[in-house]
Amino acid sequence: MKKNHNTHITHTEPLHMGVDSDTLAGWLADYDRDNITIGVVASHSSLQILHGARMEGFRTLGIAVGENRRRFYQAFPGAEPDEWLMLENYREMLDHAEWFRERNVVIIPHGSLVEYLGSSNFRELQVPTFGNRGILHWESSRERQRQWLEAGGCTMPKVLEDPHDIDGPVIVKYAGAKGGRGYFIARNYRDFRRNVDIEEEFTIQEYVLGCRYYLHFFFDPTATDGFQVRGKGSNAGKNLGRLELLSMDRRDESNVDEFYKLGSLRDLREMALEPSFVVTGNQPVVIRESLLPRAFEMAEGTVAESFELEEGARGMIGPFCLETIVTDALEFKVFEISARIVAGSNPFVGGSPYSDINEERMSTGRRIARSIRKACKSNRLDDILS
Ligand code: ATP
Repeated sequence: MKKNHNTHITHTEPLHMGVDSDTLAGWLADYDRDNITIGVVASHSSLQILHGARMEGFRTLGIAVGENRRRFYQAFPGAEPDEWLMLENYREMLDHAEWFRERNVVIIPHGSLVEYLGSSNFRELQVPTFGNRGILHWESSRERQRQWLEAGGCTMPKVLEDPHDIDGPVIVKYAGAKGGRGYFIARNYRDFRRNVDIEEEFTIQEYVLGCRYYLHFFFDPTATDGFQVRGKGSNAGKNLGRLELLSMDRRDESNVDEFYKLGSLRDLREMALEPSFVVTGNQPVVIRESLLPRAFEMAEGTVAESFELEEGARGMIGPFCLETIVTDALEFKVFEISARIVAGSNPFVGGSPYSDINEERMSTGRRIARSIRKACKSNRLDDILS
């Protein structure tokens, strides 16, 4: 049985940058800043990213495998890429690095890109990408995420080390982002034994009862106005950059969201049915306004801590999402962080109740493009790419 053992992490671990700052600066020195092309793998949140890039006046590139994928974009002329790179498989992106750089391409990473390439290939991709690729090291393991988020002041669901200790509902999660696939709920050890796949690495987490909210933040390290994140540790006393709340969603998950319609959990088990957590869509939401200060406190702590994770850490850059459950005591439990654009921001191509307050029609995709545009003008691309 593979258990997820807590690894001891120190601040002396090597940096996990993939691409060092000199290499990035070398590439950017050859870039024509007035002719940047925004490139994205045609999946996940690409419609929003392409649409946002176009709104900010960028040329766009779609990267796809399979003619059907490309054809589908004809249905959305407002986001259709100016150019396509068609591949046999996504790993060929690695061989096209020079091709991308010759066209001044900046790649916007999303969950599907990381999944298709594999996280180590993504880190090594020799093309400027938006955000900090180094943060993936911290995001890709549940233990490191926990260390990061708890140090940032977030409360997380408890973890059970020994399945024999299960004496209330728990959720059993397998390693790696699988969009909830294969997760199951257990009420006791018997449930656990019946459902667990012992070949897989798993974590047992307290099942938190409450409402799920996925908070889409954006951190702009180049902005000196607005809600400034206060540094801690080696950055104490410094303002690190501007934190923005762009939108919020809740996921539709099949079949757990509709499960109750068939009866009680006991009835369902008699029919040999188990709840599953496969994400099928997203719905826009807002939270009680009185919860917003705590949401900002958690996000600020998470960003401030991202600069302290290891020596020389570049910290968070751009969009990130705190995945939370709010209990009936009005407390947030954070069960995960995504350190890039999440598909939950897709309902907000035309803006959100939060982003509209500051500027209408500002999606996360457009906000990324705006950030690149601003950095091109102020000659600060090095500060937002990796
Ligand atoms: P992704 O990486 O795509 O976000 P994932 O495979 O890492 O997905 P999680 O986001 O950790 O999966 O969880 C999937 C779903 O399981 C959540 O949306 C939520 O419904 C449920 N869930 C996760 N953790 C808990 C918890 N501790 N208590 C209750 N429900 C949970």
